[in-house]
Amino acid sequence: MSLINKIPDKPRDHCGVFAVYGVKSAPIAIYNGLFALQHRGQESAGMVVCDGKDMRYCKGMGLVSDVFDGDFADHLPGDIGIGHVRYSTTGSSSPVNVQPFLATCRDGMWATAHNGNLVNASELRDNYQKKGAIFQTSTDSEILLHQLADPSFFSKRDRIRQALAELRGSFAIVIARKDCIYAARDPWGIKPLSIGKLGDGYVVSSETCAMLQVGATFLRDVVPGELIKISASGIKSMRFAGVPNGRYGQCVFEHIYFARPDSFLFGQSVYKVRTDIGRRLATEHPVEADVVVPIPDSGVLAAMGYAQASGISFELGFIRNHYVGRTFIMPTQDSRTSSVDLKLAIVPEVVKDKRVVMVDDSIIRGTTIKKRVEIMRACGAKEVHVRIACPPTRHPCYFGIDFPDPSELVASGCSVEQVRDLIGADSVGYLSIKGLCSVLDQPQHFCMGCFDGKYVCETHNATNRQTLGKSCGGNVIDRYKRKK
Ligand code: SF4
Repeated sequence: MSLINKIPDKPRDHCGVFAVYGVKSAPIAIYNGLFALQHRGQESAGMVVCDGKDMRYCKGMGLVSDVFDGDFADHLPGDIGIGHVRYSTTGSSSPVNVQPFLATCRDGMWATAHNGNLVNASELRDNYQKKGAIFQTSTDSEILLHQLADPSFFSKRDRIRQALAELRGSFAIVIARKDCIYAARDPWGIKPLSIGKLGDGYVVSSETCAMLQVGATFLRDVVPGELIKISASGIKSMRFAGVPNGRYGQCVFEHIYFARPDSFLFGQSVYKVRTDIGRRLATEHPVEADVVVPIPDSGVLAAMGYAQASGISFELGFIRNHYVGRTFIMPTQDSRTSSVDLKLAIVPEVVKDKRVVMVDDSIIRGTTIKKRVEIMRACGAKEVHVRIACPPTRHPCYFGIDFPDPSELVASGCSVEQVRDLIGADSVGYLSIKGLCSVLDQPQHFCMGCFDGKYVCETHNATNRQTLGKSCGGNVIDRYKRKK
């Protein structure tokens, strides 16, 4: 499957990771975990399972339910494993880039899965290539495997810590070995990663919603700069880096848009943060109106908060069609636009002759929201007031969130008034940075780079969408399917 026009009109995260140790039916638990993390990436999915001796894998392009068919679990015995769902921002959308990655080093097999974006990936990759290393993929994630196989690291006792300390940027990483798993989070904690308990075993997940799905209980987050090892001896915690300048840089967009509302993220409930954002938005941008209408699904909780705080009634003016394919894989702008039309259907009775407050999580290019405003007017809305649950998105993200080029970010070159004019609304109100900080427990520990242009680490020559060299292409043939 080749993907054209991948950059969506909404930001996308690019991966989710899940790992288990000491869990019977590991492949089923990983399947359920990945299924719950599907919103973090829909291009490909994969898992590696280990029975204490051998590692076996199954991976491919498509949704979790497509990649893992009926009897897949019978072919993946074991109680240790890691899984991954992917949306590509670094590296092309090719079968060869599907994670987890597996490699055999001098001391046996390693399997790795990564969520994030390494801003020094080109530099590290160049160094290895100069020394003759052969890369199989065009992703930044493969670098870790080369580090683990690096003879100069190999002699060191703590070679995983040594390798992680060289990485710059965002990463939540899980690693499987034949008798243990590892999990690590970048020193800024940009990407989320949590540990849970399941029976006598453990799970590690990008989001806590996946833990609940498999019946695990949340223990704690992996601390930024921490490497944990989970083995027969339990959890061992190690540090590979201190917190730079004493300040984390947790991605605030996780709370605004990416994470599932039933997740507990960076110490706060996503559900509560989103409804609090809506309440704050109502205080910052009040308006006389008859009805508050969310853009589903991402605007629902902020709209609820807005309605609660303003006393204006909340109505579902748009109904999502869950059976429409993903708009961002449509091959042309025309087909993508028509798919957007199919995805949300308006309920004319809700908006006819009404003054409407329309709430969405963010505006990226502005093309989709413009259509929504037009549809509202065509259905008889008297006024359309747009309220956005985050500050204007003016800058790119270098840490793995798929924003388009800054020139395509509508807020980057326009004032709020110009955005209003462009999308044809009666008024537009964005949440302020101060307002956003007011709903976060420890706002100083969040990255807001896409709003204020201040990033937690040096971004070197990284671009927001980088492809590192060429992948080998070809098809990944998963081991058990080849036997069939
Ligand atoms: S720049 Fe924006 S999207 Fe990227 S990590 Fe920071 S807050 Fe998240």
